Amino acid sequence: MATHIEGRKMFLAGEWVEGERWIDVTDPQDGTLIDRVPAATKEDMEACIEAAKSGAETSARMPVVERMHIIGKAAEYIVTNSEQYARIIAKESSKTIREARKEVGRAVETLRLSAEEARRITGETIPFDQSPGGIGKVGYYRRFPLGIIGAITPFNDPLNLVAHKVGPAIASGNAIIVKPATVTPLSALLMAQAFAHAGLPEKILSVITGRGGEIGDVLVEHPAVRMISFTGGVETGLAITKKAGLKKVGMELGSNSPVIVLQDADLDDAAASCVSGAFWAAGQNCLGVQRVYIEENVYDTFKTQFIERTERYIVGDKQSEITDMGPLITEKEAKRVEALVEEALAKGATLEIGGERDGAFYSPTVLTDVPEGCALATEEIFGPVVLLYRVAGLDKAIEQANAVDYGLQAGIFTKNLDHAHRAIEELEVGGVMINDSSDFRIDAMPFGGVKQSGLGREGVKFAIQEMTDTKVICFKLG
Ligand code: NAP
Repeated sequence: MATHIEGRKMFLAGEWVEGERWIDVTDPQDGTLIDRVPAATKEDMEACIEAAKSGAETSARMPVVERMHIIGKAAEYIVTNSEQYARIIAKESSKTIREARKEVGRAVETLRLSAEEARRITGETIPFDQSPGGIGKVGYYRRFPLGIIGAITPFNDPLNLVAHKVGPAIASGNAIIVKPATVTPLSALLMAQAFAHAGLPEKILSVITGRGGEIGDVLVEHPAVRMISFTGGVETGLAITKKAGLKKVGMELGSNSPVIVLQDADLDDAAASCVSGAFWAAGQNCLGVQRVYIEENVYDTFKTQFIERTERYIVGDKQSEITDMGPLITEKEAKRVEALVEEALAKGATLEIGGERDGAFYSPTVLTDVPEGCALATEEIFGPVVLLYRVAGLDKAIEQANAVDYGLQAGIFTKNLDHAHRAIEELEVGGVMINDSSDFRIDAMPFGGVKQSGLGREGVKFAIQEMTDTKVICFKLG
């Protein structure tokens, strides 16, 4: 079946609905118009939540076998239409076609995992008689869906990050309303199309397009919405957390991930991993490598290898098979990155390579000698810029890696087990990759950060835990 987006419509409670106002969706590399989607109103959002109330009841009653079947069918629909899905991602987002194909494969994996995990939402028996007051009682606990999940997603993985919310929500018997990023709504609508094709009962899923600043509060503050599952920037995440009130919040936020390279590392492998981790999706990646701490006696060799690999990066047309890196999501974002680099250079940093902007494109950039006090040193860049630091050894590397407010993932390259274990113990992050960069994830692993990088965990099984409540059942024996 040919893939098409239901032209200029959003998916409200199982129906493709037009709006009265439009949002233009443009290709970031040249500004061409791809499509238009409705700019939903607050009233649209309220109607969506109202419908989701009965959607949540339908979802909770749906037998597990049916949930598994529908999610599996949605995954297969995406497989059948994978190239068209990838083309849309590579048009509306800043990903190249090769990056987009990988994301489609990951989204399929996320849905298949969700279908599988549905059968593992179990409880366990409780030995009540371990307390004197529990003698003569037997029972267990089970997990129940929360009801309505509000999902708010960013632009940088516009399909798979939607899959990470929709798959677990439906697997665990919830209804879900997705508010995708305004710049990349088409991939989220394609996800809705897959579920519509798979026969998901109406009202369980909505993908509502519109500006977060206009319609976000209705979703976040509504008492019927029992969880906000948010992926995006820290500022937005903090604002949402303050408004959400007494409901669960899942926060997958940003970072400025560190990688440590020790003298016994395989330097070639470390350079290759770090370059890929720094420039994947033009650096617009929450796990992107931003700060690399290199032990001093291998610093020069590593730096040379890193720059040589960066020089070979092909930046350009996203639809071309040979392109390694596309533009940033908007020219405004490219200018923001440019300004951050210029500030660091003015304060004494050294530009090793890159630092050039052309519209929304920003060249892969390597900086050294970045002084403390630059925004680049402590904030999330979210662009293709990486900072190399010379350090005396592991102690200093860990100290500097931890000296920021973020903590999503980190990497360390070493053959020394003791050093690897110290990094595991002492790095303040949600995941430590040994002999890999921070930019590693599979969709089944627990994923999330500490400090300002977030609250809670995704990764299908872990998202299901967040999207369910525990209920205790206790029988008093006669
Ligand atoms: P963003 O600006 O925070 O936007 C994320 C989402 O929030 C968008 O859908 C946005 O809608 C919405 N939003 C904005 N204001 C809102 C409000 N007042 N109420 C409700 N929703 C609102 O982030 P982004 O620029 O799209 O994404 C980049 C960030 O995401 C980076 O910081 C990155 O590190 C982080 N990220 C984290 C992870 C993770 O798993 N930890 C994964 C990927 C990305 P509009 O588009 O309409 O404004």
